[in-house]
Formats: sequence, structure tokens, C-alpha cells
Amino acid sequence: MGHEEPPLETRVIPIDPEAPDAGVLAEAGAIIRAGGLVAFPTETVYGLGANALDDASVRRIFAAKERALDDPLIVHLATAADLGRVAADVPALARELAATFWPGPLTLVLRKRPEVPASATAGLDTVAVRVPAHPVALGLIAAAGVPVAAPSANRFTRTSATTAAHVLEDLGGRIEMVLDGGPAAFGVESSVVDVTGEPPRLLRPGALTLEALERVAGPLALGPGKERPASPGMMERHYAPRARLVYIREGGVETLRARVADAVALGLRTGVIGTDLDAAAVAGIEGVHVAMLGVEGDHASFAAGLFAGMRKLDADGVELVVVRRPGTSGLARAVDDRLRRAAAEVVE
Ligand code: AMP
Ligand code: MG
Repeated sequence: MGHEEPPLETRVIPIDPEAPDAGVLAEAGAIIRAGGLVAFPTETVYGLGANALDDASVRRIFAAKERALDDPLIVHLATAADLGRVAADVPALARELAATFWPGPLTLVLRKRPEVPASATAGLDTVAVRVPAHPVALGLIAAAGVPVAAPSANRFTRTSATTAAHVLEDLGGRIEMVLDGGPAAFGVESSVVDVTGEPPRLLRPGALTLEALERVAGPLALGPGKERPASPGMMERHYAPRARLVYIREGGVETLRARVADAVALGLRTGVIGTDLDAAAVAGIEGVHVAMLGVEGDHASFAAGLFAGMRKLDADGVELVVVRRPGTSGLARAVDDRLRRAAAEVVE
């Protein structure tokens, strides 16, 4: 699948992330109502928005991203009160999760209403829905007056965009507008929970931790169920940098150091994405490109900087990137999931 449209002029409009200008939101909302594409910040990553109820608009998202048509989108609402516009049936647990975590980085998979075009759900009878916790996203959706389908604003299989610059890098010339509200806070995508069956199922670990979810929902099943279609972000190769990524899942900082030393000895342009501990471990090795995301144990900083780190090392022309697992709980779970999908090689 290619992109054959003539290039558009993509307007980048700076916008205050806390107090967005109503005139800018109205203009962006009008673009979406008219069938156009607007990229906007959310608390997780940047989204690429279109009118979720219009098949032609939704198809433009797939064309711009070069996204596979069997990968469904997340539909964004300004308020949970609008759920009835897209979801046919909202079980009690879904209501409780929405009341607890919306606006926020939780996506619920629900039975869909017929008004939602098949293109938005990849032909599934379910629809993924969330209310984002970001004034620009909420203001844009409200101004558009329609549910807004919005996957991450990046080319398919690449890392999700966490800044407006990332969006332009991937989608410049393909979309009408980017609202630049600064870097996304979480830096990883929403957690996706399928509440159409029993038990509820965490299809994609994300910015809302499993621990927080289970306090409300009780124990969740993990990963795609056998009888249900796999969740698309769960595709094997995804979220990947151009460089070959080696993921040190077991073995710790010594394994990372040895791996980096070997690569450098082979003459490879080598990078590390990690914490202060990783940076210290490779400090004695000449010529290593380091993207330092924060101090050891700070999973929030790690998640927030991971995709930007991959893009930075790509821009530096790095050929091999080594990353060590940052932890096993909380936000580190989402990071681990993304790294396993980004990796050309996993060291267990
Ligand atoms: P993206 O916004 O690019 O991260 O992609 C949307 C994500 O939402 C996908 O990766 C899926 O994991 C999930 N998703 C969307 N719709 C559904 C659905 N109907 N059933 C299961 N997962 C879904
Ligand atoms: Mg994506």
C-alpha cells in the first residue's frame, strides 16, 4: 500500500496545552468535520484525527499512515456521555472503568453501533473507545462535534509520535494540520481493555498500569484471547526504530555493557537507550551514542523518552541500539511490551 495523493501543505499551529485557543480549536474541528486530518497531542502520544463516523475520512488516516486496513483505530470522545454514539452495549464494568479512569489513558473495547464504519474497526463488531485527558484533544473533539478516530500520528510500524516534530517527520505533506502542544506526557499509548467478555482482557499494556486497572476490575486476562481477533498494536514488528534493536530482557547492565563493547569492536555505530546506570556502564567505551532517559527505577521518565530516544539515535545514524529492561511492574510493563516488538533480537 502506498501514498499516492499529491502533497498537502501541512500547517503546524502552536497551541497552549493547558488553555488552548478556542479559535484554533474551532478551525481544527472544522477541518475534521469537512473530512480532513488533524494531528493533535494527547496525554499518551500524538493522535491523527478524522471523523470516526465517515468512511472516506477514516480511510484517509490509513492512506496517510500507510497503515494495514486490518488494524482498527481508537475512537476518541470528548465525554463518556457520548458513548452511546459509538457503542451498542456498555456493560456495568465498562461504566465503572470509564467513571474511574476517564478522561485518561484507558481504551475500552465495546460492541459497536452500526453508525461506526467498518473501516474504523477493521470489520470487527467491536469498537475501541477512549476519552483522552488532554485539554487540546478534548477541545478539538468537542469543536469537531463528532467522535474522532485517532491512531498514533506516525507511519505504520514506526514508533509513535510523542512530539509535533515527529508527526511532521512521518506525515508532513499528507495531513492538513498539526496542533503543537509540546511533548506528550506519558510517551506510551493507552492501555486497551476488552470488556465484551468475561474475564475482561488487557489486550495492550499501556500508560494506565495493570495494578491500577485490577484494583477496579479485579484480575484481568492478559494478551489476545484465542477466540478473539488479535489486537493490532500487538502485531509482532511494531514501534521499531530503523536501527537494529537488541533488547536485554535478562542479564542486567553487565550484559548490556558487553553487548555494546562487542558491537563497537565490530565497527558498528552503536547506541544505548537507558538510565543513568546504563550510561555509566558504557562511559568507558569510545563513541557510543547514549540517549539517557532518567535515573534507574524512574519508569515514567523511561516511558516518556523511549520513542524520542529511538528517533534521536536513528537521526544520529546509529546502526545498532541496545536497551535493557527497565523493570517488571507499573509503566515498565508497557515499555517491556513495546521493546519486545521493536527488537530484532531479545536476550532472555
Ligand atoms: P494505535 O492508536 O495506532 O496505537 O492503534 C490502535 C490500537 O487500538 C490498536 O493497536 C489495537 O491494539 C487497539 N484496538 C483498536 N480497536 C480494537 C478492537 N476493536 N479490538 C481490539 N483492539 C482494538
Ligand atoms: Mg500506533
